Amino acid sequence: MSADIIDGKAFAAKVREKVATHVARLKEENGITPGLAVVLVGEDPASQVYVRSKGKLTTEVGMNSIEHKLGADTSEADLLSLIAQLNADPAVHGILVQLPLPDHLNEDLVINSIEPAKDVDGFHISNVGLLGTGQKSMVPCTPLGCLMLLRDYHGSLSGMNAVVIGRSNIVGKPMANLLLGDSCTVTIAHSRTQDLQDVVRGADIVVAAVGRPEMVTGDWIKPGATVIDVGINRIPNGEKTKLVGDVDFASASQVAGAITPVPGGVGPMTIACLLANTVTACCRANGIKEPK
Ligand code: NDP
Repeated sequence: MSADIIDGKAFAAKVREKVATHVARLKEENGITPGLAVVLVGEDPASQVYVRSKGKLTTEVGMNSIEHKLGADTSEADLLSLIAQLNADPAVHGILVQLPLPDHLNEDLVINSIEPAKDVDGFHISNVGLLGTGQKSMVPCTPLGCLMLLRDYHGSLSGMNAVVIGRSNIVGKPMANLLLGDSCTVTIAHSRTQDLQDVVRGADIVVAAVGRPEMVTGDWIKPGATVIDVGINRIPNGEKTKLVGDVDFASASQVAGAITPVPGGVGPMTIACLLANTVTACCRANGIKEPK
């Protein structure tokens, strides 16, 4: 058996198209251009690539992209003061502080200083609490992207057994909350989980967000299950390197019913959802009906 490939790249392009339509309407009917501010502290190469690509796609859908690049030695006070300025700026509807931050900066403090309504990453403690209690919130982009792919493929997820491998605040935990919200029976696995392979074998839906290249192999997967691979790992490939997920695509795709590739699966959905969240934030800030 060979699994259906869930084409996140194509789906993300459709999401961005929808975002662009809403942006055009906001400009035309309300005279408002949504603005996304991205703050990058330091010179982490992967973060620089992400920020560049976020800026490009933000502009492409017609929104204003505001970039603040700060030196690695920026003080916490200066960063907090920039965030306060962005919180107060009515032209800024979404604020994203690129993680990870340099060690001398307190990530929780910084994230929680963002105005929750502008927290398009959905990491502020208020948004975490709202999501956890099933209330309207800003939903973290990567798990939201995974949920959109799953809903698109399955329609209803109600009653399905879902196993999320990974319990981080940015992927694993919000993913589990979203799946619970869609009435899955959810298990969260992590590095201390016993008999992980057996746990995964019981899943109709597997979401792998571990950060370990190709850890989940085909023999862990229940035949016909849907596999969402969040992992982005760079591994040596001869003289060069290549990107692989947390799932061994070659073996898993022989057993699964459907699977996301890496690259081209969850990755593009993350940025598309960030843009969608910014439009949502803009609509909420201006009392305009938000897109579905
Ligand atoms: P974290 O390192 O924060 O969390 C990893 C989780 O995996 C932890 O909960 C950890 O358990 C668990 N884990 C580690 N080793 C094992 C193991 N052997 N068995 C079971 N569980 C294990 O990572 P993130 O959640 O931030 O990211 C996960 C992956 O997703 C990474 O590859 C990252 O690059 C990628 N990613 C991709 C994005 C995208 O846009 N596609 C966006 C964000 C992340 P414990 O808590 O016990 O330590």
